[in-house]
Amino acid sequence: MNRKNTDTLILPPGIAYFDSHCHLDMNTYDEDRNELIARAKTAGITNVMTIGTDLKSSEAAVNIALQHDYIFAAVGIHPHDVDNIRDSTYDALINLYKKNSSQVKGFGEIGLDYYKNYCSKEVQKREFARQLEIAADLQLPVIIHDRDADNDCFDILSSFQLKEGCLMHCFGSDYPFARKVLDRGMMISISGVVTFKNAPELHEVATKIPLDRMMIETDGPYLTPVPYRGKRNEPAHVRYTAARIAELRGISIEEVAEATSRNARQYFHIEEP
Ligand SMILES: [Zn+2]
Ligand SMILES: [Zn+2]
Repeated sequence: MNRKNTDTLILPPGIAYFDSHCHLDMNTYDEDRNELIARAKTAGITNVMTIGTDLKSSEAAVNIALQHDYIFAAVGIHPHDVDNIRDSTYDALINLYKKNSSQVKGFGEIGLDYYKNYCSKEVQKREFARQLEIAADLQLPVIIHDRDADNDCFDILSSFQLKEGCLMHCFGSDYPFARKVLDRGMMISISGVVTFKNAPELHEVATKIPLDRMMIETDGPYLTPVPYRGKRNEPAHVRYTAARIAELRGISIEEVAEATSRNARQYFHIEEP
């Protein structure tokens, strides 16, 4: 059976999806950005959140969102890039939001990354807290990057009243930690890693967490789901993540797509297309 037929089997047509996290500004998309954005729409991806990782990429993300009414942006500084951040950088981020508030729907990605540790833990924690304060001031929901930093991340998040909501993107921890963040009212986003065979913890999380607290994402260009694992990721591939979650939970792909789209629209305050 060729690829096309297999896809139609796994991915019934006419379903609407929401990719809650990808990086459309990255230069790996420079050659065919418009094509893949068009491909996403054809594939039924009705909304995409494109996420900034520093000031420049936040500006680029906003520019992309301004060109497509179904794409929205988030602005923020990734924990990899928080060294030597000046007040003027945060001022510029705040202005970027204020000038484009109709297309900027979240603050992120922000958080802690103790796996790569490109910046010291102290600097990461300090700038994370500072950005959570800004997000609270702007009344924007946050998008959290947490890699190998569950305890510190949870402690810092718990010290803030995040009334607009908190989304743990690309959830990479176990079910007990998922339970802990859910009990705090946070949301969880599942990436294409759930399609990998060697991800039993994420399979458990994707099976057990309530559907009304879940989103799905590509994190493109990274974390490409099976059957495209190893290649560049893009929003259209979020369908495979939905399909695998449906299979794990024993429900239909429509149910997963509908719930995760509804959750994302509510979370980011985006109207139904
Ligand atoms: Zn991330
Ligand atoms: Zn990301």
